[in-house]
Amino acid sequence: MTNTICDGGNRISAASFPHPNLHALWAEVAYVSLDDPIERQVVEQMFVKAPLVLYCVKCGRLHLDWRDGSVRTYAPTPDAPPTTPHS
Ligand SMILES: [Zn+2]
Repeated sequence: MTNTICDGGNRISAASFPHPNLHALWAEVAYVSLDDPIERQVVEQMFVKAPLVLYCVKCGRLHLDWRDGSVRTYAPTPDAPPTTPHS
């Protein structure tokens, strides 16, 4: 998901690292499977393999890359104005 054109027309480049609006989606079971202390290399491998969520700051849509070749887009309901995930 290096470049995504949002349904709202916004072109989003996710090529930069770290990207402020690109998130890894981890299941809780993946987190609890880690040994203590958590090693950075192990976390990086989890990040590389995890589904990615790209947030569009213009319209609030979420683009979910399942890492299987499919990307699904989720839009906020019409009565919910876009907000930043960091507010
Ligand atoms: Zn958008």
